[in-house]
Amino acid sequence: MDRFYITTAIDYANGDPHLGHAFEKIGADVIARYRRMCGDRVHFLIGMDEHGQKVASEAADRGIEPQALVDDIAERFQAMWRRLSISNDQFIRTTEASHRAGVTALIEAIFRNSPEDFYEKEYEGWYCVGCESFKQDSEIIQGKCILHPTRTLQWVAERNWFFRLSAYTDRLRKLISDTDFLGPKSRRNEMLALLDQGLEDISASRSRFTWGVPFPRPSSTGETQTTYVWFDALPNYLTATGYPNAGFDERWPADLHVVGKDITRFHSIIWPAMLMAAGLELPRHVWAHGFVLLAGDRFSKSAGVRLDLNEAIDRFGPDAFRYFLLREVPFDGDGNFSWERFEERYNAELANAFGNLASRTISMIDRYRGGTVPSGRDETIDAADAADLAAYHTHMSGESGYLLHEALKALWRTVARANEFVDRQAPWKLAADETRSEELDRTLGSLVRQLTRQTAHIAPFMPQRAQDLWERLGAPGNVADHSFDEAGAFDPTGWRVTKGEPLFPKEQK
Ligand SMILES: [Zn+2]
Repeated sequence: MDRFYITTAIDYANGDPHLGHAFEKIGADVIARYRRMCGDRVHFLIGMDEHGQKVASEAADRGIEPQALVDDIAERFQAMWRRLSISNDQFIRTTEASHRAGVTALIEAIFRNSPEDFYEKEYEGWYCVGCESFKQDSEIIQGKCILHPTRTLQWVAERNWFFRLSAYTDRLRKLISDTDFLGPKSRRNEMLALLDQGLEDISASRSRFTWGVPFPRPSSTGETQTTYVWFDALPNYLTATGYPNAGFDERWPADLHVVGKDITRFHSIIWPAMLMAAGLELPRHVWAHGFVLLAGDRFSKSAGVRLDLNEAIDRFGPDAFRYFLLREVPFDGDGNFSWERFEERYNAELANAFGNLASRTISMIDRYRGGTVPSGRDETIDAADAADLAAYHTHMSGESGYLLHEALKALWRTVARANEFVDRQAPWKLAADETRSEELDRTLGSLVRQLTRQTAHIAPFMPQRAQDLWERLGAPGNVADHSFDEAGAFDPTGWRVTKGEPLFPKEQK
């Protein structure tokens, strides 16, 4: 049994979960569920980034302690992940004592292993509290940060600890160009271009705020500074394993970091350099997905309208929302969310194509065979499906990238094949002719075999609907407890089917 340690980026404790957060969690959850059904020992980590000046000022504005603020936000994020059936094994919060201890240990490991890599430097410049960073002239318009025009920039002179990121340029170029460490390819090219421009050293500590982990070594002036965001947030993937305690390497290194394309640089340049400096193993893969943009009538008519996640989930339920996002938005680039497309895909692909296939197959077995699945198979169909399922596994396993949308596309070819088979065989005609009883058995038996395979392969995307259908087919146990190999080998002969409400009820217009 292989172990598979998968993470998403931790979300900054600021506001409510939005579509971008949900897209990443759902995509990673599908990969985690897929791996479990491949038989891997999966550990799926998500969490919150809870330190920094923005959290501290927001708490001060509200007249509460920063810890109370982040406790409240963490609970709201977790409620959303439960609603979306996110199957994380762990939820890390950077305010946890174990994380803080792990960050300190990692910084100490760098001091020990690469004594040249931390140094002190005087720094002067315009500082934006909104960005929590110094701004270049090109990022300042009319004396204000481009991203935070309502905030006042501060002229700040500090003596900080710096990390010698520039020393890692060649090793990082090798890592990114010679291995499949980073995907998709577009992001790889972007990072290589960045490396060609040369890397600047980054700040590792700040004296401007205290809501964070104290930097373990005082500066030469005797001041204790606060660990800066890279050295606080990125190590969560490592500290979640219990680092530096014995046994952390039973889980580390991570097999896959799923992150947004806007933070590719942090995960494929800064993070591996920190680990190299500490003499620790690197994560095996980083996958940077794109953005979900809002499109369609409701969003174009009034600028600035946001998508209310709960409203989107309420529309057709959490499973349909998960399906739609991952079918519509390519997992290697940007895509759109529009209510129009959501309705179209729901009706065409879920209600009509898959839902209808399931309900008519079950009804026919009920009517013509008293609810018991007859024996029989169609080898041509099984062989054609096998080719599509092979494509599904290629796209799900990351062999050539995590193209989850392509996996669903391949799976829905088997759904179309099954519907064509029903139309061609016309079981209602076979049932009217006693001499064709064997042909009817073969047709119905074959359809249930197809549905069994489809249900197993749909389960990572739509866990609740898949389990529901699994039970109606009379299949044993929980669908997610079977490996794909097992699910593909089931002989459904003799299963008792149960009719029920439509899996994906058609819209009431
Ligand atoms: Zn700013």
